[in-house]
Amino acid sequence: MKDAERVSFGGGGLEHRAELRARAKALLADRSARVLPVWRGRPLVTGGGAGQARLLFCPSDDPFLAIHGGETVLLGDAGSGPLFAVDISGWQPDGEIVTDSGPGRGAEDQPAPAMRGWPADARFADLRALFADLTPLDAECAATAKGVLEWHRGHGFCANCGAASLAADGGWRRDCPACGRPHFPRTDPVVIMLVTDGNKLLMGRSPGWPDRFYSLLAGFIEPGETIAAAVRREVAEETSVRVGAVRLLASQPWPFPASLMIGCIGRAETTEIIRDPTEIEDALWLSREALLEVFAGRHPEIAPPRRGAIAQFLMKMWLADRLD
Ligand SMILES: [Zn+2]
Repeated sequence: MKDAERVSFGGGGLEHRAELRARAKALLADRSARVLPVWRGRPLVTGGGAGQARLLFCPSDDPFLAIHGGETVLLGDAGSGPLFAVDISGWQPDGEIVTDSGPGRGAEDQPAPAMRGWPADARFADLRALFADLTPLDAECAATAKGVLEWHRGHGFCANCGAASLAADGGWRRDCPACGRPHFPRTDPVVIMLVTDGNKLLMGRSPGWPDRFYSLLAGFIEPGETIAAAVRREVAEETSVRVGAVRLLASQPWPFPASLMIGCIGRAETTEIIRDPTEIEDALWLSREALLEVFAGRHPEIAPPRRGAIAQFLMKMWLADRLD
């Protein structure tokens, strides 16, 4: 698919530069290094509105980082010097702490402390609510930072022997000092699919989603499956619809917490929907004309899809007939 890299979190221009990781500590001390603080999965940002919000990278000698900095990862370079992210989750805000309100919902921002050199509106923002407003490079940096730092937060102990492991290689590996096993950041593949029957598209909603929110069917790939097999199994499990030919369209890193969304299109061979109520609350076939009404915010039962998510991207491309 020609436009595949136009999806959010893709094609921002960040080069990982793995060859620099062995000297990450020396690079961090360099004056050209810039560091993104991330608090409990939320990057530090400033500004607001579409294309106006931006990540707030700090100099590596920022006093806030010296006090609160934990695991550090070398994100790479986008042409202006090395970019790092540091986990500052140990920082305790004064007063009430905002909490995540879950998939499909925006979360409130956590105001940042008043630090010299930080704008007055500096805040730790929920990436799910924010990413569609970031530039492609900032979105890619934020996704990379959140993905790797969240992995560190959840993988402090060796999966082989249980001993505490240590970060290495610029934050891209954890080594076990007891048994010697190296561990690498995980990415969990998820298929998400346009299932079509001529002019109609299959959509569904999971229990607990916000009112009127529908999306494409999706699910984790299981061990031993190809991408196409996972598409067919997920659709059959959730709706009993049988899918024939499957084609890969685009992919999107989705660091909530560690997914890679793999967007596909599959042609339906049957159309009767028999729903699995434990997996989905509703499923339906929607015509192109009805989907246009959804995107325009005029559909009586279905809310417009979330901006920036691969589901919205794939549906938009399907409507525009630009899947080639
Ligand atoms: Zn071990």
